[in-house]
Amino acid sequence: MNKVEHIGIAVKELATSVPLFEKLLDTRCYKTELVDSEMVNTAFFQQGETKIELLEGTNSESIIAKYIEKKGEGIHHIAFAVNDIEAEMKRLLAAGFVLLNDRPKTGADNKLVCFLHPKNTNGVLIELCMEKPADKRGEIQ
Ligand code: ZN
Repeated sequence: MNKVEHIGIAVKELATSVPLFEKLLDTRCYKTELVDSEMVNTAFFQQGETKIELLEGTNSESIIAKYIEKKGEGIHHIAFAVNDIEAEMKRLLAAGFVLLNDRPKTGADNKLVCFLHPKNTNGVLIELCMEKPADKRGEIQ
């Protein structure tokens, strides 16, 4: 695993949280993206080597909406960059971690992603993410 690629923060409303984080970080949100398959709207900030990803559920069935209902707004996951997501998934499975998806799936920001079950990681939801190869961009996994 490489650097922390981004930290995901669950928010109720991007409309209020984007200006809040722009003020906090003194930088502009450089991108918003709807991840329809996950029912999530995302907004990204670049802060040095790391990004902040704000996540807003698009409806009450969204994982993010359910998370906020249970735990309130706050840090939702930590994402690590990996060079080879399939190899890293295999390594973690062999080491006894539980993967929430058995194949890499398409996340926001042209990434292939996989999540680890937080029950084996001290309650922290961990995301692996790998830059999508250029020829796979726009493809649904
Ligand atoms: Zn993420």
